[in-house]
Amino acid sequence: MPWTRASGSAQGWRPENVPNPFRFPRAKHVRTRKPQAFKNYKQFKPDLRAEFSGQCVYCRMLDRLKGEEGFGVDHYRPKSLFPRLEAEYANLYYCCNRCNSWKREFWPNRRQQAKGIFIPNPCDDVMFEHMRYRLGTVSDVSDAGAWTVDSLDLNHAPLVELRTGVIRAVALAEAKIDEAEETVEDVERLVKRAKSKQERADLEAILVDAQRNLERQRENLRMLIGPPEPAAT
Ligand SMILES: [Zn+2]
Repeated sequence: MPWTRASGSAQGWRPENVPNPFRFPRAKHVRTRKPQAFKNYKQFKPDLRAEFSGQCVYCRMLDRLKGEEGFGVDHYRPKSLFPRLEAEYANLYYCCNRCNSWKREFWPNRRQQAKGIFIPNPCDDVMFEHMRYRLGTVSDVSDAGAWTVDSLDLNHAPLVELRTGVIRAVALAEAKIDEAEETVEDVERLVKRAKSKQERADLEAILVDAQRNLERQRENLRMLIGPPEPAAT
């Protein structure tokens, strides 16, 4: 799920208040893409990328931060054990190469299943009920979450550092957008109250600059974490 911008400046811009682009979804994902039945599972990658908003379903890394070539197709049920699902869209997920290589051929055995040990996926499970982000670190909230954090090495120190840096940069970009929005509103008010044609013209020129600055700040945020989530219809 893409990020949503915090509305209004009242929430402040401390890192814990800004949208964390890595956060786990709070609802199950319902697949929307219906790709043709490719024989080679790799051909599903563009659909999976769109389906899962360019984020690894397990660690939530954004491919715009690491490059699409660092991402691939994960077989949730490994193809060695479930060969018939090798090119079955419902078994395929968008996944960073790092998570994919840690996950490998994992499938819980009966003993593990009895203990609630498995790796959750966003279509069958509510990821948020298993793992949550606290700034750049993943904390587990279930046995399956603990297993996943550990077996996919989700809190590898350089990764935590990278995510924390991104969250801070998002916070800063958000603060600048808030500031720029306020400036635009202030100047708009002044334009309405202008007492002469000249004053109005001068203020309108300032307004154009302020609007340009706002657009620049929004673009900075887009470059960092992608376009905002479209408003719900
Ligand atoms: Zn990953």
